Amino acid sequence: MSKKIVYSSRRNSARGRNNRSNGYRQPQQRSRQPKKAYIHPSKFIAKAKPQAHLEYNPKHNFADLPIKELVKQNLEAMGFIKPSIIQDQTIPAALQGKDVIGIADTGTGKTAAFAVPMLERLLSNKMSKAIILAPTRELAQQIEHECYKISKGSNLKSAVLIGGASMGLQLRQLKQNPRIIIGTPGRTKDHLERGTLDLSDFDITVLDEVDRMLDMGFVHDISQILKLTSPNRQSFYFSATLDERVRSIIESFSKDPVYVSVKSGDTSSNVEQDIVSYSSDMEKLEKLHNLLLLESVTKTVVFDDTKRSVDRLSRALEERGIASSAIHGGKTQSQRQRILRSFKNNEITVLVATDVAARGLDVADVSHVINYSTPQSYEDYVHRIGRTGRANKIGYALTFIEA
Ligand code: AMP
Repeated sequence: MSKKIVYSSRRNSARGRNNRSNGYRQPQQRSRQPKKAYIHPSKFIAKAKPQAHLEYNPKHNFADLPIKELVKQNLEAMGFIKPSIIQDQTIPAALQGKDVIGIADTGTGKTAAFAVPMLERLLSNKMSKAIILAPTRELAQQIEHECYKISKGSNLKSAVLIGGASMGLQLRQLKQNPRIIIGTPGRTKDHLERGTLDLSDFDITVLDEVDRMLDMGFVHDISQILKLTSPNRQSFYFSATLDERVRSIIESFSKDPVYVSVKSGDTSSNVEQDIVSYSSDMEKLEKLHNLLLLESVTKTVVFDDTKRSVDRLSRALEERGIASSAIHGGKTQSQRQRILRSFKNNEITVLVATDVAARGLDVADVSHVINYSTPQSYEDYVHRIGRTGRANKIGYALTFIEA
């Protein structure tokens, strides 16, 4: 049962009463920021409708699949017993060597959907190598972590090629001839241009969150990178949406692919969505503060527009006694990792973020997503709210709208 959320709560607490700052001002939309698409407020309101696929009865079990015993044991140790719907529908075809295109929302288990058949091929053929491209540093690291856990004990070496991280370490990893490369398109292309990466014998290609990568302007980088891989490759392409741009790139780099779609609507169906109206900046901050004090609000990602506004909002919350951290592209990679770790470990329970910094963030128990500023587009909204309602839980998304 979902708890009723009381937006107008004026509940005070010791931390709430202390040290309130009136200094916070919502920054004006800056001219260099792209103009926001108008989204009717009704699009931010929806009841949670947990999906039938959460009770999905898979045709396969990991134990019955023709995959290495080691991988089966690792999956079991990770608590993966039954495949999720996307895994159930893609892994058997992928194990037969088929190219796979999966249209799946975040949180559906798409990482293991490509990682399991990819690792099977790598472990069966010592000459095989895989390149995985993902839109953000955080997602690349999460994929690396999941692949490491699924292949633990196999000695497969990997390299993570992401911006903002030590070039020296990446060069050392590349010299060891890794069989798995996980990279963001920009840094991967850097290595190709410097001659420190040769993809000609990479015969497995994975694109994760293709739509995001295209939104971020990586279309040429992706095409250039894929053209340099082996022509005998097997491809796995995953995207939350399938529009003409996505279809065009994935079809030009795949052969007779199997399409699997587990999308059921255009919003995360297990997220209860509502708006919070405000009429002044002070009232807006006050309402956010009161929301964050509610008992049901246990772990929250608060979205705001810019690096500056995110820093400023996090400081304003700190001044009101609410422990929070700001995460955005202006922070170094190690700062971002440290902040994400403390969020995952519940050392901080409020993360104030820009869209880019929070993309691909996989934290299972985020109770609320709060859009302190409205998103640039409806697609961004869907990605934002996908940070909650994961792992079959009901999540809540609240969007601040000026009255
Ligand atoms: P993903 O969509 O790959 O980011 O996965 C979302 C979350 O579900 C991650 O925390 C995974 O570890 C978890 N997960 C993926 N597949 C399974 C499965 N078959 N059983 C249990 N948990 C899973």
